[in-house]
Amino acid sequence: MFYECYPISTWKRQQGMTLNRDPDIICFKHCGRKIFVFSVPSHCPVCSLPLSQSNEVQPFTLPYPFVNATQCPCSVVLRSSHGDFLSNFQNSVNLHIALTDSCGSIVEFDSPGLLWTPARNVDKAQWRQCVLIMQVPEAWYAEWDQTLRNVIDHEGWRRKQYDEDHVNCYSFVLDFLRHLQYEDTSQFVHDRQTFSTKFVVPKTAYAAKFITIFRRIKDNGFWPDEINSE
Ligand SMILES: [Zn+2]
Repeated sequence: MFYECYPISTWKRQQGMTLNRDPDIICFKHCGRKIFVFSVPSHCPVCSLPLSQSNEVQPFTLPYPFVNATQCPCSVVLRSSHGDFLSNFQNSVNLHIALTDSCGSIVEFDSPGLLWTPARNVDKAQWRQCVLIMQVPEAWYAEWDQTLRNVIDHEGWRRKQYDEDHVNCYSFVLDFLRHLQYEDTSQFVHDRQTFSTKFVVPKTAYAAKFITIFRRIKDNGFWPDEINSE
């Protein structure tokens, strides 16, 4: 049931190939707008003037909102249930929440029951584009792993306990966090709504914005936003 840690040097080498393969989103300012693109063009796509003649441009890259779960030890991670966020995500119903252990293994509760998948066996396409909801510092790694074992030994988290509406991936993560008692998180882990408001929504709000902009650029080549629209 419980896997030994894979040598870190080995899994880091393996995971190295699965880093962000999506194009960066670059933002620059021109003709009173923020313009989002995958690469800075020679001419403004809105007003057609050459960008070289403007001192307004100042391009910067938007922070990429996703992580590769196996590279985030001792974390709570959220992914799209089907496919990835950028291509397939539709709405918040299609989300799956899971934990990682100190080796980057994925520990999750789903319809087949509890799954503990070593980082080297993880389906990389499924777990490379996750939102990092929470991560403990290294000083907590031993406590995190031990609590995981205790919670699973005690509660079982078997297939027959699964109920899509009431005993699901969230139930497992919240039960674990209640037992972990990490700093002041305990007061926010008694129900899904409170946990979501405190930890999930602040992280997913930016990801949602990024997804929207990403898809608009993909469809149109660029996306202009009024500078004062925020
Ligand atoms: Zn322009």
